[in-house]
Amino acid sequence: MTTMLGISLAGRDVVMVGGGPVTARRLRRFLDEGAIVRIIAPELCDEIGELAFAHGITWMPRPVVADDLDGAWLVHTATGDPRVDADVAAACETRRILCVNASDGAHGSARLAAETRAGDVVVGVVSDAGVDPRRAGRLRDAIAGMLREGRLPLRRRRATAAGRVDLVGGGPGPIDLLTIRGRRLLAEADVVVADRLGPTDVIGELDPDVEVIDVGKRPGHHPVPQEEINRIIVEHAKAGKRVVRLKGGDPFVYGRGGEEVAACLAAGVPVDVVPGLTSVVSVPQSAGIPVTHRGTAASIHVVNGQAEPTPATAAALADPAVTTVVLMGVAGLARLVDTAFAGGAASDKPVAIVENGHTPQQRTTRTTLGRAVADAAAAGVRNPAVIVVGDVARADLLLPADIMAGDADR
Ligand code: SAH
Repeated sequence: MTTMLGISLAGRDVVMVGGGPVTARRLRRFLDEGAIVRIIAPELCDEIGELAFAHGITWMPRPVVADDLDGAWLVHTATGDPRVDADVAAACETRRILCVNASDGAHGSARLAAETRAGDVVVGVVSDAGVDPRRAGRLRDAIAGMLREGRLPLRRRRATAAGRVDLVGGGPGPIDLLTIRGRRLLAEADVVVADRLGPTDVIGELDPDVEVIDVGKRPGHHPVPQEEINRIIVEHAKAGKRVVRLKGGDPFVYGRGGEEVAACLAAGVPVDVVPGLTSVVSVPQSAGIPVTHRGTAASIHVVNGQAEPTPATAAALADPAVTTVVLMGVAGLARLVDTAFAGGAASDKPVAIVENGHTPQQRTTRTTLGRAVADAAAAGVRNPAVIVVGDVARADLLLPADIMAGDADR
């Protein structure tokens, strides 16, 4: 029978007998945990040599003797000679030192678990009978996958003082376009502060007792002011909660994520940011539009359509090799078109307006600068929408030339 213990090796003496690849693998792990390692082996493989040099490890270049084990909390023996490993294990036994025996088929008094970590959680796999590292490793990998994807109940049940805020970019909407890291952090969260855009469905998958605070704009409701959002995330984190601030797209693209990070830093609250697929790229993509395309567009100019267009925007709109991507731009479309024409842009320059990208309500309106205002009004285009101005917005951009030539035999 085996009992699994979570042991801290930090600052503790560990003796490793043998200088081959098994020792090398485990050495890394012991060093990561902060153990003070001594190696006894006539020779070291290159990998250990480098590690030993980098970490200033003590190496006794000779065969092991029983006295080498004195003072260790844990011994790891992997000499490649089962007889020597068995002798080491026996010497540990009389000294009451726990010993991992890496010989094929042997068990020492201790076994290393196949380990995986998710945030602060460590899961280990060991077997009571026999040694089957492949099986333990595969089981470990399967559990690691579920942990990574937030499919296991990672949320802490006991509050600790260690509150924090994670700004998670949720991508354009579908849950499977949220990053795996973001999904795991959501599974760990006590409080989720969410917007209207982004993967709102994921909220329904959270534990029922997770506090969800909706700060998004809704028809008939006023948006929560940014200062108030900052205050909410900081206060919950200070109360020891794990807070996820879930945002549409990427937190640092027109998401005011920078302000939220600054507010956390000013309050001394630990904060981290998880990137998300920004609508700048993913919404045009949902309509089959590559924002850059060799020979067509070599750069991207991104603008907030609510702001007065700048000379840089006028220049981008007039440049045939630049794709201009406008967010929050439906209300300001006429002003944008005026800017384009004042800067000398061609009136037949292609425009695509993609509404609700990556959702069942997705709709694309293809037009030109000259007709954009009239076509958008006729179609009743509404936010959220991304407006793409440039040759990449041409409907036939990626179609084979023979189809475009009307080759009926194809
Ligand atoms: N941080 C976000 C952008 C926030 S600004 C990001 O990186 O994507 C909000 C604007 O994003 C909307 O007005 C719209 O222009 C755009 N947008 C976000 N999601 C969208 C979607 N699914 N379809 C179309 N536009 C979207």
